[in-house]
Amino acid sequence: MEFVNVIVDISSEQLDRVFLYRVPKVLQDRIQIGMQVQIPFGRSNRQRKGYVVGMPEEANYPLEKIKEISGIVKGSIKAESQLIALAAWMRENYGSTMNQALKTVLPVKQKTKQKQSRKLVFLLSKEEGRELLETYRKKHYQAKVRLLEALLEQGELDGKKAEEVCQVTSSVIQKMEQDGVLRVETATLYRNPFEGHFQRKTETLLLNPQQQQAVEGIWEDYQRGIRKTYLLHGVTGSGKTEVYMELIARVIRDQKQAIVLIPEIALTFQTVMRFYERFGERVSVIHSRLSDGERYDQFMRAKDGGIDVIIGPRSALFTPFPKLGMIIIDEEHESSYKSENVPRYHAREVALYRALLCRASVVLGSATPSLESYYKAEMGEYGYYELTKRVKDAKMSEVSIVDLRTELKEGNRSIFSRKLYSAMKDRMEKGQQMILFLNRRGLSGFVSCRSCGKAIRCPHCDVTLSLHNDGSLRCHYCGYEVQMPDACPSCGSRYISGFRAGTQQIEREVKRAFPKARVLRMDYDTTRTKESYEQILSAFGSREADVLVGTQMIVKGHDFPGVTLVGVLAADISLYANDYRAAERTFQLLTQAVGRAGRGDLPGEAVIQTYMPEHYSIQASSRQDYKDFYKREILYRRLMGYPPVHSMLGIYLSCASEELLEQQAQMLGSSITAEQMEGLTIIGPAEAALAKKNDIYRKVIYLKHKQKKKLLQIKDKLEKKMEQESVWQKVYVQFDFDPLNSY
Ligand code: ADP
Ligand code: ZN
Ligand code: ZN
Repeated sequence: MEFVNVIVDISSEQLDRVFLYRVPKVLQDRIQIGMQVQIPFGRSNRQRKGYVVGMPEEANYPLEKIKEISGIVKGSIKAESQLIALAAWMRENYGSTMNQALKTVLPVKQKTKQKQSRKLVFLLSKEEGRELLETYRKKHYQAKVRLLEALLEQGELDGKKAEEVCQVTSSVIQKMEQDGVLRVETATLYRNPFEGHFQRKTETLLLNPQQQQAVEGIWEDYQRGIRKTYLLHGVTGSGKTEVYMELIARVIRDQKQAIVLIPEIALTFQTVMRFYERFGERVSVIHSRLSDGERYDQFMRAKDGGIDVIIGPRSALFTPFPKLGMIIIDEEHESSYKSENVPRYHAREVALYRALLCRASVVLGSATPSLESYYKAEMGEYGYYELTKRVKDAKMSEVSIVDLRTELKEGNRSIFSRKLYSAMKDRMEKGQQMILFLNRRGLSGFVSCRSCGKAIRCPHCDVTLSLHNDGSLRCHYCGYEVQMPDACPSCGSRYISGFRAGTQQIEREVKRAFPKARVLRMDYDTTRTKESYEQILSAFGSREADVLVGTQMIVKGHDFPGVTLVGVLAADISLYANDYRAAERTFQLLTQAVGRAGRGDLPGEAVIQTYMPEHYSIQASSRQDYKDFYKREILYRRLMGYPPVHSMLGIYLSCASEELLEQQAQMLGSSITAEQMEGLTIIGPAEAALAKKNDIYRKVIYLKHKQKKKLLQIKDKLEKKMEQESVWQKVYVQFDFDPLNSY
């Protein structure tokens, strides 16, 4: 390559300051993206170091003015070099500018003042402290409880560490300071606050044979220098986390580091504590409540060898460890691993590439693996290990499926089938707990007219408005709000009503059927803050309610030993979603929901209500039979040419002018058609699922092909075209490979 783009300061916000250099002949074969190079810089031609971030084919700059690089910096390839190479790969594979890709992977130092280190000093006596703890517990101030417990134990805490380990926000600390519980001091000298707070566990659990098989199998490969990806398939509670920790312990002994990705919602205090107990101070946690500065600090600690393990959501993948040995992705099927910002990358795919660059192994864990991962395991591309039993040998629940069509035919118009009703009655009498699950948020969803059939929609976003308890109609995208009208805005008919069966509706119905029932509701509206979310969980956990009604957030990973009944009110709702992953998502949700029942000593039962009892995703989840589900689903994907069998590319267009958008979408569609690529399927252009958002119009084109390479070629061509034609400054285009959510 004759030319390279170089950036000089990668820790500044100005990543777009790229300089063009020429590569001397002798170095042209060796130069690579990510390499550190020595360059003459500025008027004085002072020697500086920079990183190669691109290799343009031609120079769009007067040739005689282009300087030559002086040399390649010797020494090991640094973490930054790998991350820059990773960014280049992401740019190429997901479609974005190099600048967008670099901003995603590089820890950027913000020009904000460094926070001073603070010390929290406990001001109460032990006695007073314990009394207050009781009060906090009664009121379910979970965050305050954790902080107070730590203060009682330690007397003093480092502020930042306390926020991280106790997972409290600075506002909680502030409130407790106002209440006279503690004093915040700016510490000059600070010692390690959690020393002794948790017991480092020296003896580890004896792994069961299946766990051992997984650990030894993966480790044998590792020691023989084989680096690949493994799928660890095991139900919740089957001991996956123990397998991860044993592998990490071995990686650390090998002087290397590990990244553990966990979906933010599952990043609980208990999980983090388990890692601290095992690995002590050399663990760090990243989560969305960290400021950019704090995140940057964590990354610098990782780079300087201050930690061995980092735990966090998607972005923890870009931790600049100098010798990364293993990447673990727990709950690998979770859609939160896919970024919805450009570059729209999937953490699983990027992890695989990062692992390739630095010779690390990847372990993917899940109870309901993504079709992608199981497909690759089946083809032999990934190693596969299965944990088939729960460690604590709790029995699986008994599951029944109820056909709601029959219920209606036989005169039952309530939202509870007779089967579910009698099971609920039984639990009420026995004083046992139950969960009612609905895959939908808001009160009663949309309002529609029984005369003309039209639903009331947001004028800006073209989605249906949701009816709330206070009689208002609201848009969940842009916040638009109107009062519920008396008559249909389209035809004037008075027969308009809400669509029944939202979580609030269910809560009311439960109270009507069982006036004595204590009901908690958990959905988007009741959990705006992290604290309210925890309050509901802990209140239910300490048996202050009989029934928990909620959307999908209640079925993710929480253990309630007192629950012996799970009711799924309308299993098909997620099947009606307008994308090809609807069945997969339904299977995952139902399997998780059914798994919530019977986690304690008592046997559990689940009742699934549905209008489509014969659907395989519902049948298979009722038996917790992943393999049967997979067999049928992969057939459908193969038949229809959907991922993971074929690759798919979403091209998303948006524009303020409807006409211009229409014209450009048509133009783009026909230019792709004109290519006459064999085996290519073009869908659209069509209106996006959300055809208008904040007054911007949106259209989509979907492409399918057996080979991803072909779709990448098309993407490259389109990117070039967009650079050359000025109209694309008005029509914004995003690329999305193997989309997870509809646009
Ligand atoms: P998963 O990550 O699959 O949900 P965990 O690793 O959290 O499973 O294990 C579930 C529970 O079983 C935890 O409380 C864990 O401490 C315990 N456990 C796991 N493996 C063993 C083992 N080999 N012996 C005893 N207890 C174990
Ligand atoms: Zn009407
Ligand atoms: Zn709106």
